Amino acid sequence: MTFGTVCVIGASVAGLLAARALADHARRVVLLERDVLAAGPVGHTSVPQGRHGHFLQPNALEQLEDWFPGFTDDAVARGAVPAPPGHHRLYMNSEPMADWDATLLTASRPFLEQRIRSRVTGIAGVEVRHVVATGLRYRDKAVAGVAHRTPGGPATERVLEADLTVDAMGRGTSLVRWLEQGGFPALPVQWVPVGIGYTTALFRRSPDDLSPTISCALDQFTPGVDGRGLAAVAVYAIEGDLWQVVGMAYGRDREDATVKDLRGLCAGLPDIFRKATAGEPVGGAETYFYTDNRRRRVADLERFPAGLVDIGDAVATSNPIHGIGMASAVKQASVLADFLAGNSDPAGRTADFLRMREAVVDEAWTDG
Ligand SMILES: Cc1cc2nc3c(=O)[nH]c(=O)nc-3n(C[C@H](O)[C@H](O)[C@H](O)COP(=O)(O)OP(=O)(O)OC[C@H]3O[C@@H](n4cnc5c(N)ncnc54)[C@H](O)[C@@H]3O)c2cc1C
Repeated sequence: MTFGTVCVIGASVAGLLAARALADHARRVVLLERDVLAAGPVGHTSVPQGRHGHFLQPNALEQLEDWFPGFTDDAVARGAVPAPPGHHRLYMNSEPMADWDATLLTASRPFLEQRIRSRVTGIAGVEVRHVVATGLRYRDKAVAGVAHRTPGGPATERVLEADLTVDAMGRGTSLVRWLEQGGFPALPVQWVPVGIGYTTALFRRSPDDLSPTISCALDQFTPGVDGRGLAAVAVYAIEGDLWQVVGMAYGRDREDATVKDLRGLCAGLPDIFRKATAGEPVGGAETYFYTDNRRRRVADLERFPAGLVDIGDAVATSNPIHGIGMASAVKQASVLADFLAGNSDPAGRTADFLRMREAVVDEAWTDG
């Protein structure tokens, strides 16, 4: 084993996948997570986007299957919905478009995350600790551990010594501040305004409903001239015999939208959209406003501590309408796996990983 203990801060999708890659090279992988993680497919506080439809790119599903053999069958047995070619419908301005030539898997985001979590925590040596990370500890300008404390408990800090630390804290990562505290240069951050509002609601679906399992009506993928306008509506068949219906619109800043609004929107779209919203709603509509794409240009830094890497939304977030965040986390974890496999001193050469990983981040990065 290359490492004794490695620490991953954040046990959401990117952190769990990093843990999967690290588990092949470390005796102990400790994930630090500030949220309470329920045993079932339930969302958690710091991932509010989890209440909204998450499209899993087919190549990401293939990689998950490689890491966790039987992932798809297991997910389907628990209620996720397979969507082979012929089970998707795409429309542009209500005109049908060519379907995807791929098998997709549709499920809610908490379901997908929980299925990944259950596989990762089943690996010997992997554990999740319910603590909040509060800072990095440095030794000879390298990260040597992570300070943490009990959420809501006394301010007493403990330190987990680690041979390698992974920042998977998501888009609100504290890394910029923590690097500065360690005497490292300020991390350059790039911001691109987007301003897209999401409204999602769930509706009961008859279990024998043979409709297409995924449908998207794309009005336009980019904002209109005034930065406003409907972007897309997506309908996914998900676990629990539900339809997850998502409306995405540019420029509607935190405007509350209701189940009635979603039904009104779908009334003007092809049949499947009306049908999906005709069933009994389960709960109310959830809204989320995504302000900007954000990229922390770690690879541009002249000095970055050894013993530290970052992954997932902590590195970059792209307009969610493209549905690539989880797939990018999968690819980044895959680069991490390759880097670990081909390196005799990975903790000392983390700058190599950051450089290798740039192409994957570039691929997912969008200018709006
Ligand atoms: C509205 C919306 C829709 C989206 N739709 C899609 C989609 O269709 N398809 C897709 O692939 N992607 C989608 N995404 C992107 C996707 O949600 C993310 O890319 C994905 O969740 C990866 O996130 P992550 O694990 O890097 O970070 P997060 O999911 O944000 O998780 C970060 C974790 O770190 C923990 N944490 C943070 N700080 C600390 C600390 N100090 N101590 C301990 N724990 C800490 C948090 O509690 C959290 O669990 C969407 C995003 C949004 C906003």
